[in-house]
Amino acid sequence: MTLTDLGWSPWFEEAYAPFRDSGWQPARLIRDNRISYGALLGDGEEREVVMGGKVYHDAQSDADLPAVGDWVALELGGPGEETVIRARLPRRTCFSRRAPGHSAEEQVIVANVDVVLVVTEAGTDYNPRRLERYFAIIGRSGAKPVVLLNKSDLFTAAENKEVLAAIKKLNPEAEVHLTSAHTGKGLPAVRAYFQTGVSVAFIGSSGVGKSALVNRLLGDEYQWTGEVNETTGKGRHTTSARELMVLRKGGIVVDNPGIKEIQMWTDETTLRERFADIEALAARCKFHDCKHGSDAGCAIRTAVEAGELDSARYAGYLKLDEEIVKLQGSRKKRQMTIERRFKREGRQKVRNLSDRRELEREASPWRKSHYEP
Ligand code: GDP
Ligand code: ZN
Repeated sequence: MTLTDLGWSPWFEEAYAPFRDSGWQPARLIRDNRISYGALLGDGEEREVVMGGKVYHDAQSDADLPAVGDWVALELGGPGEETVIRARLPRRTCFSRRAPGHSAEEQVIVANVDVVLVVTEAGTDYNPRRLERYFAIIGRSGAKPVVLLNKSDLFTAAENKEVLAAIKKLNPEAEVHLTSAHTGKGLPAVRAYFQTGVSVAFIGSSGVGKSALVNRLLGDEYQWTGEVNETTGKGRHTTSARELMVLRKGGIVVDNPGIKEIQMWTDETTLRERFADIEALAARCKFHDCKHGSDAGCAIRTAVEAGELDSARYAGYLKLDEEIVKLQGSRKKRQMTIERRFKREGRQKVRNLSDRRELEREASPWRKSHYEP
């Protein structure tokens, strides 16, 4: 393996110039263990590494801290010594979110993803609002959006063509491909995105065929972990998830739980927007905790009775509301485990840092928000 296989490019080479004579080594972070990181070096060696005190101190916010996908400069420790991140290189692209818990700070989910393959189908999963939202998130990150209209074997040519055209109209810059994980249609076009050093992530609703596509494309080399495990926040089969998988034939698959959550937020917002008119009505109910049943002054019941609101549509709204609650429930569970992990392991991470004394001299705001009970 070489640095190029890992995604290194002239752009990073230039960013690394200040460290060229430092004796440090460039490496890419492939895992965040909370107490340390997993890093891949250019020769293919994987090491556990810890954050250096200066990196920690110089961070203006959480978003400045090293994240999975980042390129860093490592000071390699000898036998029995720690390997320390001495610097983080700038990012070409970046997916971020609000930090869990009370903090309003931004947290980086994953850095330096080059291509995002959005998987959907010409059937009920196709939703232009949700796609627009994906495009907005991907656009903000700086990655290239591609849409895979999967399960093409289940729809007529006319149906596939119509949705394909609609997506192209929605975002003329996005490349769109018809695929089928079952017949193999379109797979060469998908495989073509996996060029040496290119980091590729998949997003899309559950059940659209992301796992089937990845497994078809990559064969035995790498099995997609599927949905995020709610209690560990990690993929099903892995114990210490490697979030970046360098493929033998070239290309890097990004398998990151944070990326998978993007589809959950997107789905919630999209569900709400589809019923914006009903939510607006609900805001006019007499009581703010109106159950929209027999409650007095219910604007929704009044609208249904007056024939202004279709009762079947309203029933759909009630059911979708339950789905949002379900979405929130699973997300909350994951967030709680993450926070618990932070609390339990945070102290240890600080202890592990080589520049510990320097750290203890001044407590940073980051440490306060995340690492103190
Ligand atoms: P994921 O949740 O997005 O990872 O979806 P999966 O890969 O688990 O696929 C969900 C179901 O759809 C599985 O039963 C797959 O066999 C099926 N499936 C996936 N891709 C295709 C396809 O292109 N055509 C057909 N007919 N079924 C597919
Ligand atoms: Zn009401």
